Amino acid sequence: MFLNTIIIGKILMNTEIYFEKDGDLSFLQNRDIAIIGYGNQGKAQALNLRDSGCKVIIGNQDDDYKLRAKKDGFETFSIAESVSQAEIIFLLIPDEIMKGVFEKQILPNLGENKVLVFASGYNIGFKIIDPPEQTDVLLIAPRMIGAGVRENYLLGKGFYSFISIEQDASGKAKHILLALCKALGTLKKGAVFLSFKQEAVLDLFNEQAFGPAFGRVLLSSIYTLIDAGYSEEAVLIEMILSGEMEYVYQKFSKIGMVKQLDLHSHTSQYGAITRGIKFTSLPLKKKFSEILENIESGGFTEEWEKDINKLKLKFLKFFATRTRINKIEKNVRKNLQKKEYDIFDQPMPSKEDVRKAEIIKKELDDFEEYMNEF
Ligand code: NDP
Repeated sequence: MFLNTIIIGKILMNTEIYFEKDGDLSFLQNRDIAIIGYGNQGKAQALNLRDSGCKVIIGNQDDDYKLRAKKDGFETFSIAESVSQAEIIFLLIPDEIMKGVFEKQILPNLGENKVLVFASGYNIGFKIIDPPEQTDVLLIAPRMIGAGVRENYLLGKGFYSFISIEQDASGKAKHILLALCKALGTLKKGAVFLSFKQEAVLDLFNEQAFGPAFGRVLLSSIYTLIDAGYSEEAVLIEMILSGEMEYVYQKFSKIGMVKQLDLHSHTSQYGAITRGIKFTSLPLKKKFSEILENIESGGFTEEWEKDINKLKLKFLKFFATRTRINKIEKNVRKNLQKKEYDIFDQPMPSKEDVRKAEIIKKELDDFEEYMNEF
């Protein structure tokens, strides 16, 4: 384990980071594992655990995902059956439906001395799910999509994860956690210990602050150039389709933001550094702090838990099909003979949806207007 002490405000924080030598697979002997959900993470994590010598079964509803698991050679069961059969239970289903599945299908079959493993801090960190006291509650949240979890395991490279322990009923939670991390392959790269809530907040902040702000900067650049008369094709190639930015971002990760400057021309280095000063007064920090506060206080979670906002999302995704950038992208992709030129489409909400959304009509009208200008 590596311990790095940092000072945030006036609080001393220790960052605990775990590596390969910290995990002992013998803690998984005679402990059967059930993976609930065979989607992005479920498939990848089930295969990694099995290849590391664990006994793994799959719990899923009767449908295509279950068939996929069978084809991959797993024994499959209903969610309820798999929960009663295994000692360690990974919950790898979408966060927004987890509470319902947990209360109806998992809790009644849980029994005692079980270990629950989450891949996101959301439901525990924001107290949406409240597991029984006699259960170990662990977090292994990969900073990687499912396909990457599998691919990097096979390549022996590993992937970063955020890990945590919310309840240690067995007194062995840390040993089990690190053994599972080793079997999944994450210790090859490093697992960072933090709380469930911190993991969830980091994830939501990235999605709600950095992501949209970055999107806005990109769009402003694209529209500035197109409105100044540059061709849509040339602008989209310059800003996105060339893949150059993707490559630069990879270099941020591999060698660092400052060092990667060396890979650009001197003209580029001079221009980027001298013009950077013009953007230091963007009011981002204030907005980012507001978004962070809304996430940390549970404001966002409370909003998203309401069914009306699932309906709102349907409308927002439909409005997104009408944005200026979606039209430009479709056109440019077609002209460049890219196969996926009309990938983003969303059906118009039904009459029934429109009727149900009557109570948020004003809000939807505002969003529609804002997205038409987007
Ligand atoms: P997916 O959307 O891929 O999960 C699909 C699985 O969930 C399928 O097995 C599906 O089975 C099942 N499922 C969906 N709806 C229901 C339902 N109502 N009842 C029972 N089962 C259902 O999920 P992810 O793998 O993306 O996410 C799983 C967890 O991993 C989440 O906690 C997420 O936050 C976390 N995570 C995800 C990452 C990612 O890259 N995707 C990265 C890191 C963490 P069926 O439809 O057959 O019921």
